[in-house]
Amino acid sequence: MGPCRAVPCLLLGIAVAACSPEVEQVELFGETMGTTFSVKVVGEHIDESALAQRIEAVFEAINAQMSTWRQDSEISRFNRVRTREWFQISEDFMRVLASARRITQQTGGAFDVTVTGLVKLWGFGSSQRQIKVPSPEAIAEMLSHTGPGTVEIDASRGAVRKVDPAAQLDLSGIAKGYAVDAVAGVLEEAGLDDFLVEIGGEIRASGERPDGGAWRVAIEKPDSRGRSIQLTLPLVNAALATSGDYRRYFDVADMRYSHIIDPRTGNPVDNSVASVSVVAGDTMTADALATGLMVMGTEKALALAARNKLAVMIIKRDGSDYRVIVSADFDRLQSIAVN
Ligand code: AMP
Ligand code: MG
Repeated sequence: MGPCRAVPCLLLGIAVAACSPEVEQVELFGETMGTTFSVKVVGEHIDESALAQRIEAVFEAINAQMSTWRQDSEISRFNRVRTREWFQISEDFMRVLASARRITQQTGGAFDVTVTGLVKLWGFGSSQRQIKVPSPEAIAEMLSHTGPGTVEIDASRGAVRKVDPAAQLDLSGIAKGYAVDAVAGVLEEAGLDDFLVEIGGEIRASGERPDGGAWRVAIEKPDSRGRSIQLTLPLVNAALATSGDYRRYFDVADMRYSHIIDPRTGNPVDNSVASVSVVAGDTMTADALATGLMVMGTEKALALAARNKLAVMIIKRDGSDYRVIVSADFDRLQSIAVN
């Protein structure tokens, strides 16, 4: 999760649009987790300020547990521990960690929340980017303190411990998706079924738009110079997450270094994949898979998508151009879009 900018962590704005005499669309927007969020809800007699408060509480709880940008968060306190003692964590944190482990297995280790030390070594872990390529020795040393075996999880006790006292966790590749699902949960609890929730590009849609059609979402072209749309897609009770090398990267001597690290080599991914989008039933899974598939590269990612029936879209750099490749299940979503 990124740092808060010059503004408070959560700035809530509210916009209300009347759709019909009874049904209205309320939009809440602001900043959290170092990025922006927006929530569109359709319903009758929506209590916007009560909703805003509950959403703020969700973000606060998740940041207090999982933000590596907060020194006093559970994850930061755990990262500072230098022993093998068990460390008690909150339920949400455990849920995200357990899901992260599932995706680590599914992606053959490509998605790995213990890459933290490497993320920091490459200068992506803080707002003060060092823009310096680490030495092979430093990478090898850090690699020896990463990997799923370095942190043990005991879900029944709600506790984690370091097998390697130097191990650290980073949930930036999955926590935004979890937060989207948590906000969706708050809306559902409030009896609201028609909504679109988005944090930093990770999106979940439920029900329908005010005019009755499916929510439509856009996947951006992977261009760091500006924003334009690659394609739009209907999202029906589903989530969409995208990982890319085009927003957070740095260039050193014409090499582009992505903020996503290949846990097998300790280096930023370098496989010409510019972005990966995943559509799944929940946003946390889509978020983690998008990051993991970025690391796997086109062929392995598509093979995994075929085996697990995942809806995946990959945008590959091809010289100065792009090539779009989709899995069969993503293609099916697109054909729904056309019909
Ligand atoms: P996302 O934007 O969801 O793809 O997440 C990217 C963030 O996840 C990075 O900024 C890192 O903090 C972290 N990260 C980098 N590489 C990995 C990886 N291989 N597995 C899990 N998280 C990673
Ligand atoms: Mg992700």
